[in-house]
Amino acid sequence: MDTTTLISLHGGHSGQYCSHAKDLLEDIIQQYIELGFKTVGITEHAPPINDHFLYPDEKNLHLTAADLYKRFEDYIKNLGTLKKKYASKIRIFVGMETETYTGYVDHITKLISRFQPDYIVGSVHHVDDICFDYSKKDYDKAVLMCGSIDRMYEKYFDQQHEMIKALKPFVVGHFDLIRIYDDHYKKRLLLPGIHEKIMRNLTLIKSLNLVMDFNLRPLSRGETEPYITSSILKTAKKLGIPAVPGDDSHGVKQAGNHVDKAIQILKANGFGTKWPEPRLLT
Ligand SMILES: [Zn+2]
Ligand SMILES: [Zn+2]
Repeated sequence: MDTTTLISLHGGHSGQYCSHAKDLLEDIIQQYIELGFKTVGITEHAPPINDHFLYPDEKNLHLTAADLYKRFEDYIKNLGTLKKKYASKIRIFVGMETETYTGYVDHITKLISRFQPDYIVGSVHHVDDICFDYSKKDYDKAVLMCGSIDRMYEKYFDQQHEMIKALKPFVVGHFDLIRIYDDHYKKRLLLPGIHEKIMRNLTLIKSLNLVMDFNLRPLSRGETEPYITSSILKTAKKLGIPAVPGDDSHGVKQAGNHVDKAIQILKANGFGTKWPEPRLLT
């Protein structure tokens, strides 16, 4: 009998607290319960440090950084209530997904001490203060600013290294997100200058006992493999770094998607499925 329990430690973005997500947070949690999940980490985006770093969807709605700070406050409060309400059915961990723009270390550290989440997911969505993952157009703009796509990868992994050292996130989010709009990522990730930085970051992750997000968002977009790509997954296994599924869901219909497949891939690659328990490390 397969006794592996379903889990996601990155996701549960809801339309209530994220302008590019859908649905009520409680409906998303009920969906996880319906699907048989026993543990779920909900990891809403950290509010931006200032109005410059609002996402396009937030700007379109004329929201401000102050509005989003208040909304995040509501998120933490509501999720705490839901955690208690559904405690007999599912273990909910209250999480937060980070950013890495100018001033983030101080900003995120303050958010952590103010809101005391159960853990954080350390993600990089910016290179040199430009958000690269929101659209292909943004990605191309970031490539231009960096001078070349190889250079953008290098900057991404440098930024990630700094973030991991500074924030010690329990879960390192979508480690190779920088490949998002690059058709040639498999080869690029193996280029010596980039591969070296990947190895450096993985070694740091191992030394801090952090966990890799096995992020299923690409599968929802019809791509063939999650973040992280199989070559990095194999290296993580060799180094003894645990990996845990993250659906990166942004609505009820995405909650729990592809987690069964992720567990199959992890098992086939020799990973353990006794999932580590999220906690704050800073
Ligand atoms: Zn999002
Ligand atoms: Zn993310």
